[in-house]
Amino acid sequence: MLGENSFRKAIPSSHPSVSPYIGRFAPSPTGPLHLGSLYTALASFLDARRHNGRWLLRIDDLDTPRNVPGAVPAILECLRRFNLHWDGEVYYQSQHIDDYFDAVARLQGQIRLYHCVCSRKRLAAYPEVYPGFCRDRQTTDDSEYALRVKTDDETLSFEDRIQGTIRENPALQHGDFIIKRKDGIIAYQLAVVVDDHLQGVNQVVRGFDLLDSTARQVFLHDLLDYPVPEYMHVPIIVDSQGCKLSKQTRAEAVDENDPAATLILLLDWLKQKPPASLRHAAIPDILDWAIENWQPQRLKKIRAIEQAID
Ligand code: GLU
Repeated sequence: MLGENSFRKAIPSSHPSVSPYIGRFAPSPTGPLHLGSLYTALASFLDARRHNGRWLLRIDDLDTPRNVPGAVPAILECLRRFNLHWDGEVYYQSQHIDDYFDAVARLQGQIRLYHCVCSRKRLAAYPEVYPGFCRDRQTTDDSEYALRVKTDDETLSFEDRIQGTIRENPALQHGDFIIKRKDGIIAYQLAVVVDDHLQGVNQVVRGFDLLDSTARQVFLHDLLDYPVPEYMHVPIIVDSQGCKLSKQTRAEAVDENDPAATLILLLDWLKQKPPASLRHAAIPDILDWAIENWQPQRLKKIRAIEQAID
């Protein structure tokens, strides 16, 4: 629960403090992997393997309208092609709906949730912080509503292994946020917390763009009495206009024809300085070198890496 925990003890180190290490990669099946997502996958894989950890694969397929047919096999095949082998079975969010609803019920039991019937149009004027229009409404017989969780006006602090100490007050920065959408789909913020807990994940390595979500996730971990994982947000890859490589910016799917060369490129972007002698090595040798020499602190405080990609 919140309270004295809300100011966490800082662990000023790029090393994970928990053992055994359990990490994960959690792509959304909105298309094949592009270089930006493979970059994150590689970072989380190397970090897990460097610490003799487990590296789990989760498919974030809850947002069904965004799922693209064929994306899951394409993602699995791409990871295999790059020898990024995960441990255990693939975890699919779509197979854990009951678990999310259990968590919703627990939050409901804490009188933490309320129906929000605000229209998109009404919310458009408040893109950042929800002003709490529905917080004190009495009616609950709404036919269509989102569920929001009440935030506390309290600053949370956590240590990101490369971005440093992060302090955020979710109430001021986001307001009460949605955990179940109007269309009935469990929102990412809640799903990720339940998933990481169920999978025993204690190390989250992912892109910098998700740092903005992390305080809300820490808040939910606390409410649900789940241990909070450690976080490391690696830079995102952006184009010359500063836009994140993503399917929305029509980033190309990873070219799987020369995976060794692609791995070297990604290691360069991860600032790992792969030696020239590695440039013609086979994939297993490149990965062995990269695991052995993994130094995430080289990414310290870097939020984005610009690459000209056409
Ligand atoms: N599925 C999310 C994405 O593809 C990642 C979620 C996470 O790592 O927490 O951006």
